[in-house]
Amino acid sequence: MINIAVDGPSGSGKSSLAKAVAREMNILYLDTGALYRAVGYSALTRLGESFSEESVYDLLKSLKVDLIYENGVQHVYADGEDVSDRIRTQPVAMAASKVSAYPPVRAFLLDLQRDIAARNSVIMDGRDVGTVVLPHADVKIFLTARPEVRAQRRVGELEEKGIKAEFETVLQEVVQRDHNDMTRPIAPLRQAEDAILLDNSELDAEQTLQAAFEIIRSKISQ
Ligand code: C5P
Repeated sequence: MINIAVDGPSGSGKSSLAKAVAREMNILYLDTGALYRAVGYSALTRLGESFSEESVYDLLKSLKVDLIYENGVQHVYADGEDVSDRIRTQPVAMAASKVSAYPPVRAFLLDLQRDIAARNSVIMDGRDVGTVVLPHADVKIFLTARPEVRAQRRVGELEEKGIKAEFETVLQEVVQRDHNDMTRPIAPLRQAEDAILLDNSELDAEQTLQAAFEIIRSKISQ
């Protein structure tokens, strides 16, 4: 059994890296951001855009979030509905960032994440995996890149989907989400003391993967 934690800001390439590592090592990949997005999506659709903290707490009383692996691919369900695709929008990302600062939301999703890690070899990516969810993970990587580089990657991803995006607007959103995630009082985004920093501003996906494997190998052989 091995537990690997990958934390870092949005757009640093955590999910691409974690997916590639999971494939190579034949272990499970758990995208924890998808869980926060599922709660954000439910808040938006059930409560509307200007949802309050209290209304989200009420929502949690009846909300059911499930993670199901179908052919090795993670699917997220909110109240029995597969929302895996619907959560990949910018409004849902912002709603996820908002609800993720509410302590009961984090408590609500914590057991689900720990339970999967206790039963499987897994690589999990998120913001607080190495600091809160799996403080005893075998390997911890903190993946980051400069905000301008992350925004440029996001613009490229959107363009691939045929969506035109202004670099300045995307950069502002990246900076805003970093600020939300790093300054919230509970489980803020930060590098765990025993995490290895990997800045991939100047690296492509393959070079990032090789650098991650070096870290994993060095930790496992210790
Ligand atoms: O990684 P992703 O962009 O899907 O995450 C969406 C939002 O969920 C993040 O901006 C962050 O606020 C929140 N999140 C979190 N803790 C995690 C994973 C994601 O607070 N472990």
